[in-house]
Amino acid sequence: MAAGERIVLHVDMDAFYAAIEQRDEPRLRGKPVIVGGPSRRGVVSTASYEARPFGVHSAMPMSRALALCPNAIVVTPRMGRYLEVSEQVMATLDDFSPLVEPLSLDEAFLDMTGSERLFGPPEAMADAIRKAIVARTGLTASVGAAANKFLAKLASDLNKPDGVTIVPRGREAEFIAPLPVRRLWGVGPKSAERIAKLGLRTIGDVARAELGWLRRRLGASYAEHLWALANARDDRPVDASGERKSLGSETTLEWDVRGRNAVEPILRRQCERVARGLRETRLVAGGVRVKLRYSRGFVLATRQAKLDAPADDSRSLFTRAAELLERLDLDAPIRLVGAAAFDLAAAGAGQAPLFAERATKDGNRERAMDEIRARFGDKIDYAD
Ligand SMILES: [Mg+2]
Repeated sequence: MAAGERIVLHVDMDAFYAAIEQRDEPRLRGKPVIVGGPSRRGVVSTASYEARPFGVHSAMPMSRALALCPNAIVVTPRMGRYLEVSEQVMATLDDFSPLVEPLSLDEAFLDMTGSERLFGPPEAMADAIRKAIVARTGLTASVGAAANKFLAKLASDLNKPDGVTIVPRGREAEFIAPLPVRRLWGVGPKSAERIAKLGLRTIGDVARAELGWLRRRLGASYAEHLWALANARDDRPVDASGERKSLGSETTLEWDVRGRNAVEPILRRQCERVARGLRETRLVAGGVRVKLRYSRGFVLATRQAKLDAPADDSRSLFTRAAELLERLDLDAPIRLVGAAAFDLAAAGAGQAPLFAERATKDGNRERAMDEIRARFGDKIDYAD
């Protein structure tokens, strides 16, 4: 393998939420299942493969989905369960590479460069990973393998479900040339329309376009981005740094406190800070951790738990954090109280509209508060 040539895999679970529901509940197997908000004003978060031939897909209003597929069984999302299975999937991927970049609960990039001696060619890597995921979770995944992230992600979608697509090395541009422009990363329906007006319909059309002309038509940076992708070039590294990071806030107290009535308000304040940090960085948390340091012996105690649904509002964090206090000794003198959010994911990434329903009401109110704070400083917060 020539220097600089990479092997990137994109692993994407098939109809993840619906597949989990069908696995857990035999009566749902082989039936059209829609996971989504229970009201008719809700949105489809995942449709099982049995529902898809009816035209049902993610992000579609539930009323429309049920008009298309009246026999569908609607299941309310169980985010806690999906997070649990997601962790099993990600842990499985960790066995194959130290460089795993989760994109959402159900998909991730793996950098497999240099591990051919261990796992064989990309086909063998993809098969081994899919087998390991089935063995661990009973669920299927589709895998794309290529020289970069853009191509790998595009490829994993070409043979769904339960399929593998290898983009042939050295023939990448040729491989993607016949595909519609819409397949380029960063091209939504509106941009696709704009690009079509330039007479460019396929990725190959964009690749062959003269870059100077494209710059004048689409603006320099967007044109360069599209042109590089259309020519199968994408240098973004697989970034494992965001994995399992947490975001925390803690206060060392001027004097010791004890008892729930003393600890709870401090914890609430930490949760508010953490929630604000999440919103500022556009992340949602899958879980919350409480940390206490006791004066006696400087002993540290932590407890953590998952949230019912990923959230970025302080009420969701604090509700669960307050429950965790019940599992900690609050009678001994405490000198530090902290809260942290973990299992972080990009807000709105992947299948997220789904989390929105629960998180939003509190999130919106608090977002308004963030703006007020930004304008008037932090004075409305508790005094430290
Ligand atoms: Mg998926």
